[in-house]
Amino acid sequence: MIKLHFLGAIQQVTGSCYLLEIDERKLLLECGMIQGEIKPNKPVEKFFHFDPRALDAVVLSHAHIDHSGLLPALVREGYTGPVFVTLPTFDLLGVMLKDAAFLQQKDVEWENKKRLRAGKAPIDPLYDINDVEQVLKQVVPVDYGERSRLLKGVDVCFHDAGHIIGSSIVELWMSDKQQTRKLVFSGDLGNKCSPLLRDPHLIEEADVLLLESTYGDRDHRPAAGTIEEFKQVLDAAMEDQGNVFIPSFAVGRTQDLIYHLGQFYHDGKLQQQKVYLDSPMAASVNDVYLRHTELYNDDNPAFNKSINSGVGWQKWLPSLTYTRSTEESMALNTISSGAIIIAGSGMCTGGRIRHHLKHNLWHRRSHIVFVGFQARGTLGRALVDGAQRVNFMGMEFMVNAQIHTLGGFSAHAGQSQLVEWADHFKPKRPRLYLVHGELDKMLCLQKRLMEDHQWYANIPSQGEVIEL
Ligand SMILES: [Zn+2]
Repeated sequence: MIKLHFLGAIQQVTGSCYLLEIDERKLLLECGMIQGEIKPNKPVEKFFHFDPRALDAVVLSHAHIDHSGLLPALVREGYTGPVFVTLPTFDLLGVMLKDAAFLQQKDVEWENKKRLRAGKAPIDPLYDINDVEQVLKQVVPVDYGERSRLLKGVDVCFHDAGHIIGSSIVELWMSDKQQTRKLVFSGDLGNKCSPLLRDPHLIEEADVLLLESTYGDRDHRPAAGTIEEFKQVLDAAMEDQGNVFIPSFAVGRTQDLIYHLGQFYHDGKLQQQKVYLDSPMAASVNDVYLRHTELYNDDNPAFNKSINSGVGWQKWLPSLTYTRSTEESMALNTISSGAIIIAGSGMCTGGRIRHHLKHNLWHRRSHIVFVGFQARGTLGRALVDGAQRVNFMGMEFMVNAQIHTLGGFSAHAGQSQLVEWADHFKPKRPRLYLVHGELDKMLCLQKRLMEDHQWYANIPSQGEVIEL
């Protein structure tokens, strides 16, 4: 018997986790963290609804923390088996899991200071750098397009999903005593407008399909309009004699932005003479992207030539400067105009962008550009929603800066792209389950699939178990 347990990213977009039971064998597909889930005091056993020691293998579609962030906790709780991923995902995991461990350590130190004053016993982080090192030892990198044996009677094949470098659509063949069943998991599907990466690979056959539905309710604005708007914001900042600040996610979005800025430069349209990447993590991710240029699309040969020249990203965008140290980052506050500063975090919930906002939000000449989704309750969302005053870092700030939202740079497929990709499963439609999306988005996608293709999409509930 083959069973699938829907454990995470069910009617929401974070915490991806699916458990497969093939007779007595157990395979975990994704081991993601729910955003904001790590609270210093939460017991580790609350994160897993299964025994990590009983697992035989783990497969990950890509390195984003909401798909990979609990792996070190899984290892700490006794998982000793292999973790199958693509090679670029392995490289990214090294950067991202170490960063996650570091952030937790800082949170716990802060919490323990308070506990000490209150006479309470100190607590440990959910995991630390040693657990991350152990995960990396257990990783087994697999090439795209290569069917590999995971366990007796279970094979995997990764295909490019075009979402971030190394991201994959996962094909799984599973045999129990009676039959072989094939499951396809879309992972996070990329936006076809991605300037760097290829379109998601097409697959035609499956018994069961798990389809992401992050943007199940809408299509993105065409990329050309967004790029033009971006250009206009940069020009307006020059006219106002101010700087441009871009809160950005380290993986994917930052590299896309550098691509577009480089294109402006090559077209002779970039007035700003300095672009600062003020994020050590994004700089490390840039290095990972440089190691896998064979995975880029062929849309812009000039870019591919630059990036393969051995010089790095500066060959494409000569004004790009990495500010790795805190001192270099702080020195940026003395520049009053003509600079573009890209810094994390993407939703302004932490990171260096908060320091830049602290120094610049109250200036009318400053332009803040949001290029990604801003979740409710974050500083980024408050600014996007037009707050006149905001509180952070223990202070109140007046918002005089000009706030811009660019919607077309998404790293996810829009509704039509999801439907089009799924429509390649012909002539026999697999049983379809929507995952990784909020319920209202899923309902829109469900309706569209039924109207266009008379195809019923199931919406599983948390903890639901199906037989394949
Ligand atoms: Zn992702």
